[in-house]
Amino acid sequence: MKITVVGCTHAGTAAITQMAKLYPEARITVYERNDNISFLSCGIALHVSGVVKDAGQLFYSNPDRLAELGVRTHMKHDALAIDTDAKTVRVRNLETGEEFTDAYDKLVMTTGSWPIIPQMDGIGLENVMLCKNYNHAQAIIEKAKKADRIAVIGAGYIGIELVEAFEQLGKRVTLIDNMERILYKYLDREFTDVTEQTLAERGIAIATGQTVTSFEGRNGRVTRVITTAGEYEADLVVLCIGFRPNTELLAGQVDMLPNGAIVVDEYMRTSKEDVFAAGDSCAVLYNPTGKHAYIPLATNAVRMGTLVAKNLLRPTVKYMGTQGTSGIKIYDYNIASTGMTETAALAAGMNVKNVTITDNYRPEFMPTYEQVLLKVVYEADGRRIVGAQVLSKADLTQAINTLSVCIQNGMTMDELSYVDFFFQPHYNKPWNLLNQAGLQAI
Ligand SMILES: Cc1cc2nc3c(=O)[nH]c(=O)nc-3n(C[C@H](O)[C@H](O)[C@H](O)COP(=O)(O)OP(=O)(O)OC[C@H]3O[C@@H](n4cnc5c(N)ncnc54)[C@H](O)[C@@H]3O)c2cc1C
Repeated sequence: MKITVVGCTHAGTAAITQMAKLYPEARITVYERNDNISFLSCGIALHVSGVVKDAGQLFYSNPDRLAELGVRTHMKHDALAIDTDAKTVRVRNLETGEEFTDAYDKLVMTTGSWPIIPQMDGIGLENVMLCKNYNHAQAIIEKAKKADRIAVIGAGYIGIELVEAFEQLGKRVTLIDNMERILYKYLDREFTDVTEQTLAERGIAIATGQTVTSFEGRNGRVTRVITTAGEYEADLVVLCIGFRPNTELLAGQVDMLPNGAIVVDEYMRTSKEDVFAAGDSCAVLYNPTGKHAYIPLATNAVRMGTLVAKNLLRPTVKYMGTQGTSGIKIYDYNIASTGMTETAALAAGMNVKNVTITDNYRPEFMPTYEQVLLKVVYEADGRRIVGAQVLSKADLTQAINTLSVCIQNGMTMDELSYVDFFFQPHYNKPWNLLNQAGLQAI
């Protein structure tokens, strides 16, 4: 059996390592256009701020390690075209320019995503940067050394982590976003009010509710960001406005969402036989709505990649879908969310209610305790849980993983009221906060 894998970061590496174990007789060939594999982008901001000193620690695999598993990994090889009828991949060796065609029995598409680049005046200016891979990380670190004013466009998780990193380096930082609040997709206003205040207290300028229209520069290098509401001096700009799937190679050959995300079934099969896909190149089943959505996360990528391997020969292990569960640390605050915010649920036309609790997370007789803000969103009819958010200086983010399981299993607020959780004064109160949320649902 000839297996060809295109793209080797998290989804690719997960699929390859599992396939090498499960099918030792298979000939596995990998084409990766980059010069490294398995880079953990989640470490970029930590590397920028100097918390992670050695970038080498941000990789967990390499071609030699895959070779030990018997895998042929071709670095700096770009897949140019795929013919899913003929079952062939056209490949270019980016070092020699040589082109060749390779045939496969099974194809694994793990080509991931690329940052969205808006077409506008000045986008090509020097020091307007992307933030996705190892090379971007190194370039941002180098350019930041000489930059004083830095503008980050996009107040999602990546943008927020970067503004904190730049502020810690002593830079003057502006965070620009077209939505009215930061982290709009992940958190409701009660939570973003706190986080915005935290950023503002550190001197980070927050410019929300405005869209970037162009960049101006001098001698080919960016100097200013122009938005619908103002102008901001900047000698370094980082674009973090989202991602689009890298799936042009399969356009017209497999089913996709309108944004090009490949639709796979619960066994990671595309609509074309023997073509599997995983990770940021794909849409995922979003359990809160039961529909496919584009939620590019490393967590989805490694799970889906592993499932490609398990299901390659026959449907064996089903993907359970996702809640898009995510977490972030902003200065002292530990924050996590799962499923839909109230804002998102209402925008989707759902009839939802919520329970929002502010409490101390453990008894006041303890020497210290911190306040926690918890919000659980549920359907008014049937009381099914569809989302939750938590914020505290204590790390209570695992509560959101618990609620992710609840959403996954279609649980209601009434069931949440009486789930068995432990009590111990070091950690919580006799009525667990999640039980409390269930009990307070009317
Ligand atoms: C700054 C940052 C922070 C993040 N933090 C988190 C986090 O904390 N938690 C989390 O869950 N997720 C996080 N993510 C998201 C996570 O990094 C992605 O979801 C993950 O990288 C997806 O893995 P993937 O393998 O599907 O795709 P990608 O990482 O996009 O990898 C795709 C690979 O395919 C290769 N490729 C593409 N086209 C071709 C071609 N034609 N020929 C050959 N090779 C090709 C690319 O070079 C690349 O190596 C973060 C992302 C960024 C950018």
